[in-house]
Amino acid sequence: MGKIHLTNLNERELAEFVENAGEPLFRARQIFKNLHGRRQLSFDEMTDLPKRFRAKLNETATATSLRVEKRYVSEDGTRRFLMKTHDGYPVEAVFIPTENRDTICFSSQSGCPLKCDFCLTAKLGLLRNLTTGEIVEQIITVLNDVYGAGAETPHGTNLVAMGAGEPFLNFENLIKALDLMANENGLHIVPNRVTVSTAGIVPKIREFTRLEKRPHLAISLSAPNDELRDKLMPINRKWNIEELFAAAKEFQSSLRRGERFTFEYVLLGGVNDTDEHARKLANLLNRHGLEKVKINLIPHNSAEPLEYKPSTAEQVERFQDILASKGVSAFVRRPRGRDIYAACGQLAAKDAAAPVQITR
Ligand code: SF4
Repeated sequence: MGKIHLTNLNERELAEFVENAGEPLFRARQIFKNLHGRRQLSFDEMTDLPKRFRAKLNETATATSLRVEKRYVSEDGTRRFLMKTHDGYPVEAVFIPTENRDTICFSSQSGCPLKCDFCLTAKLGLLRNLTTGEIVEQIITVLNDVYGAGAETPHGTNLVAMGAGEPFLNFENLIKALDLMANENGLHIVPNRVTVSTAGIVPKIREFTRLEKRPHLAISLSAPNDELRDKLMPINRKWNIEELFAAAKEFQSSLRRGERFTFEYVLLGGVNDTDEHARKLANLLNRHGLEKVKINLIPHNSAEPLEYKPSTAEQVERFQDILASKGVSAFVRRPRGRDIYAACGQLAAKDAAAPVQITR
């Protein structure tokens, strides 16, 4: 029988594990605190547990299932981590520092089954869903790399589920991971500091809408009509813009005053970034009464073998201005970590010739 992976377990499941091991129940709280609060991924570091119990844990369980294979540091401070699961599948996470907060972009799947035409991850296909523990461990590993095990993060951490994979195709593991990470005895990263981005899995957007404690939602749109979206994001052939917008509208109705959600729009030079596309996009949103949405414009990050080109800076500005003139607020997302293949749509276990590369 394989070892049990403890970062997969919530407090109740840990209590069962401890009980089955014949240990007092408070050991479950200690283990939880050590794993998630102190970010200790080795039982030998957990010195508040008796030595004989630590030895037993080493025999029967594991605290860690990911191994950092490579770590790249961009000239802008972004760090990209290329990890492997215990069974050899690639997992990527990216640390993006800014003045006021840190953001960690994590993956929900190894590879991705959706075939967005502008995305490098799509080329991998789906390798497998990540477990809850593998999702949580990405965050622990990144924080430990940047700040050291257990150290406070200076200005808190935001999370975005925008790495490899479609989070809503691994819904249960994702939601359990977010619950674990929100726990105040653990990482204590509350849903309000988390954004989940979907390519448009309509039934799961509805399920997400009904969650009691819910992170922010971003939907990747990237085209103002079905014809173009069918080509760029084939998931549109399953749930078209009309169906997607119906779910988005339900989500909008569930928002509290002042809350908003996001449509992401990857700008591809000459493909979906013309003045006409901007006008159509604004009209589409206005026609559907999606007034609580903001648009994140993401200039495409070119990477071979993708053939798309980024929009020019002037066209990005024009696109934003046209949306604004029609009452749609849009922001341009500044690309980070392009030189190390850490930018949006570039995560594909690629070995970048980065300025700083530390191989472990
Ligand atoms: S953009 Fe996201 S959903 Fe689309 S293929 Fe890439 S990882 Fe998958």
